Amino acid sequence: MYKGIAASRGIGIGSICRLVEHDLSFEAKMVSDTAAEKDRFRKAIDSFVEETNAMADEIRKNIGPKEAEILLGHAVMISDPAMSGEMFKMIEAGQCAETALTAVCDMFIGMFSQMEDEMMRQRASDISDVKVSVLKKLLGVEDIDISKVAPGTVLVCKDLTPSMTSQIVKENVAGIITEVGGKTSHSAILARALEIPAVLSVPGIVDAVKDKDTAIIDGTEGDVYINPDGDILSKYIIKREEFIKKQAELKTFFGKETLTADGDKLEIYCNIGTPKDAKKAMECDGEGVGLFRSEFLFMDNTHLPTEDEQFEAYKEAVRTMEGKTVIIRTLDIGGDKDIPYMDFEKEENPFLGFRAVRYCIANPDMYKTQLRAIVRASAFGGAKIMVPLVTTVDEVRTVKKLVSEIKEELRAEGIAFDEGIEVGCMMETAASAAIADLLAKEADFFSIGTNDLTGYTMAVDRGNAKVAYLYSAFQPAVLRSIRQIIAAGKAAGIPVGMCGEAAADPLMIPLLMSFGLDEYSVNPVLVLTARCIISKWSKAEADAIADKVMAMDTEAEIVAALKAAAKE
Ligand code: PEP
Ligand code: MG
Repeated sequence: MYKGIAASRGIGIGSICRLVEHDLSFEAKMVSDTAAEKDRFRKAIDSFVEETNAMADEIRKNIGPKEAEILLGHAVMISDPAMSGEMFKMIEAGQCAETALTAVCDMFIGMFSQMEDEMMRQRASDISDVKVSVLKKLLGVEDIDISKVAPGTVLVCKDLTPSMTSQIVKENVAGIITEVGGKTSHSAILARALEIPAVLSVPGIVDAVKDKDTAIIDGTEGDVYINPDGDILSKYIIKREEFIKKQAELKTFFGKETLTADGDKLEIYCNIGTPKDAKKAMECDGEGVGLFRSEFLFMDNTHLPTEDEQFEAYKEAVRTMEGKTVIIRTLDIGGDKDIPYMDFEKEENPFLGFRAVRYCIANPDMYKTQLRAIVRASAFGGAKIMVPLVTTVDEVRTVKKLVSEIKEELRAEGIAFDEGIEVGCMMETAASAAIADLLAKEADFFSIGTNDLTGYTMAVDRGNAKVAYLYSAFQPAVLRSIRQIIAAGKAAGIPVGMCGEAAADPLMIPLLMSFGLDEYSVNPVLVLTARCIISKWSKAEADAIADKVMAMDTEAEIVAALKAAAKE
């Protein structure tokens, strides 16, 4: 088995077609029959122009006119007398066509690549493409026509270029394996858009396989098998069927409300890290943003982001969500999240130290800048403020006081904002669970951060492998905390959500439903999965399993019982 980066989910099984890079070296000869050589060159150009125009036509139909223009430009370029005229002159002087083509193209490439202007530099790479294509014609090197590969083909190549990907016919390509590229590379993005399973960055795979070898690609796990035995093949054929069935089922949940089996309405929100991710949340049918981790603005920066810089980022997210709720968590730094230019003092125990809301309250100017940016963004949609790492009622009161001052200032300055902007508590410390009833009187909403709640409740450092066995949201201590927080929120009449990873855990969902969780904030790609699981459970069924596991003593028993009760 080969391991690579799981870049596009799903199981692909098929016959390998290697897209190898050709050897385009040639011997620079002098020719005596220059007329025949010119004729050979003319034919190569004509064939290239004809093929390029046909490909541009396809791209215009399948992708769009702008993309087709790029290829049409290539055809025009080689026909330009400034370029081909020079080449013909060299052939007349006795050089072979390959030499003439290479020399003139290289001269132009050298010239354009020196230029300041980005557009001009792009011409250098266009000329390089044209050179390679015409050289292939002259050398009789045939490229594989990706658009014509047989159904069930697995493409194996070093890297998938945009021109290769534009030729892919989705129905015929069962999978893609490359030697380079990561999750966000062009090939990964395209593979996901085409819903073709892909595993990238598998070192040496092109030389390790032959055409027509059988390949299995597990694009969810990043696994590749070449010529697998019968048992593995059968296992993956079943896995592929299950995946296809599941995907088809999930798609039926797109655009639907999140309803339990009894028809009670819940909500699936998304966790995002940048304003651009809000688009993803919308595309994945998220009903809001339950956690916008604002740290990115500070971490991907060389200076403290200004109020306007922050305002633009929050506004973009809020606008993209078209009026849906966007819960913006105020700066949660310190501990594992360092910001070089902020100069944090080294602490003996940073996870229990000067971080998140503690740091913000101690730096009110910096904090007010962020709060002002969020309050201003509320004029453009459903922005809410969420305070991380709360451990005392005073912290929430202090933040609310700062927000009141900001509102006062904005009113005086005549700047628009949402008068009703809410301030909620992130419930992620043992203290917050213990005083959830007190916090519920101060906060407009709760959102449970199980990632930290688990660590702080179990007194476990997530990064320490020796105690990792204790780090589980299914520990009775953590489950009781979650139940208590939700109950306190309900008793006070405020909404309770969850933005820790546990909100998307299929085993956890029935328990959360039973406890009364209103909003589940998950990675955008898990929106439909969570909605599908919720649809399968009635309140009575969720209560039955919750009653059972909440009476158990150990995490192992609880997980086993939840697995036994799980609904596929
Ligand atoms: C959490 O603690 O559960 C959470 C969502 O916050 P983060 O993972 O960013 O600490
Ligand atoms: Mg946290």
